[in-house]
Amino acid sequence: MATVETRGLTKRFEAANAVDGIDLSVREGEFLVLLGPSGCGKTTLLRMLAGLETPSAGDVLIGGRTVTHLPPRARNIAMVFQSYALYPHLTVYRNIAFPLAAVGMPGHEVAAKVEQAASMFGIQRLLARKPRQLSGGERQRVALARAVVRNPVVFLLDEPLSNLDAKLRTSARDELQQFQRRLGTTTVYVTHDQIEAMGLGDRIAVLDHGRIRQLGTPLDVYHEPADTFVATFIGSPPMNLMEDGSVLCGFRPEHLLPYEAYASGEETVRFPLTVTRVEHLGADRLIYGTLHAPNPDTRVISRLPSNIAIPVETGRRYEFALRARDLKYFDRETGLKRPATPS
Ligand code: ATP
Repeated sequence: MATVETRGLTKRFEAANAVDGIDLSVREGEFLVLLGPSGCGKTTLLRMLAGLETPSAGDVLIGGRTVTHLPPRARNIAMVFQSYALYPHLTVYRNIAFPLAAVGMPGHEVAAKVEQAASMFGIQRLLARKPRQLSGGERQRVALARAVVRNPVVFLLDEPLSNLDAKLRTSARDELQQFQRRLGTTTVYVTHDQIEAMGLGDRIAVLDHGRIRQLGTPLDVYHEPADTFVATFIGSPPMNLMEDGSVLCGFRPEHLLPYEAYASGEETVRFPLTVTRVEHLGADRLIYGTLHAPNPDTRVISRLPSNIAIPVETGRRYEFALRARDLKYFDRETGLKRPATPS
């Protein structure tokens, strides 16, 4: 394993910077997720780490060594793409063996390594098949086995789970995390799926327009978003924002509850809320409504866990409340988090 760093890393395509001066430092053995909307530059950044894209400016360091102008094979990294990029005409065995055979490793050593990687991912019985005879989840495991077989110091993964159905994604996520923990290989993982990012990352770098908006643990970015972009990108439904003079007050849907749900004596701020829609999701109810807030009325969403059984009906008005400590403040002009509570 190794550290991965970028210094002022920039990629310019035509008129715009797809990656705009990124300084990033991934620790040894860390699972770092690059998260952001489509087009924010995640893949371009990953491809520059891999050596598949030449930076317009800045540097990439792996294990403290500048590798900016080294080709991919000289970087000791392994990349897994969304498409898995398996060779369709080769068996699973030969797909996994490919990177070893390409560097001239003797056959018996190759066989031992393939065996080891296949058992790690539980795919020994698939070795004779061709990729088209595999399910999406099995293909993903083959791609990962091919990635680990060379003992890379860094894994670079670009949305490797996005072709899997929802159920398989959850189990594949769990598997992937276990492999990464067991191997201890530094991993950079690209996704636009915040649930995946929250579940997998030791830290998450939230990207927008080629820049890092925030780098922090999943709980940091969820509870202490650096700006309104992060606040509304992370969380589903996103953080509610309400105007109050020169600031925006932010609060998570699960923190806006009917006031009876709070213990008496708890310090809360109350607001009347007119309910426009109720969605039953099983474990939760989502209440869509208009908050008759200090300033203009604001559309908000409240998430009630099923253990709060207070009846809520569309078209009616209720008293909702928030704990003062669950309110976050952002500058209305810049969107940046304000440290102090405004008066
Ligand atoms: P997605 O989640 O949709 O894959 P992304 O965050 O990975 O998006 P990138 O693929 O890195 O985004 O693209 C970042 C920006 O750079 C986009 O505006 C894209 O159109 C542009 N871009 C990417 N590759 C090229 C290229 N080869 N030539 C010109 N523009 C490009």
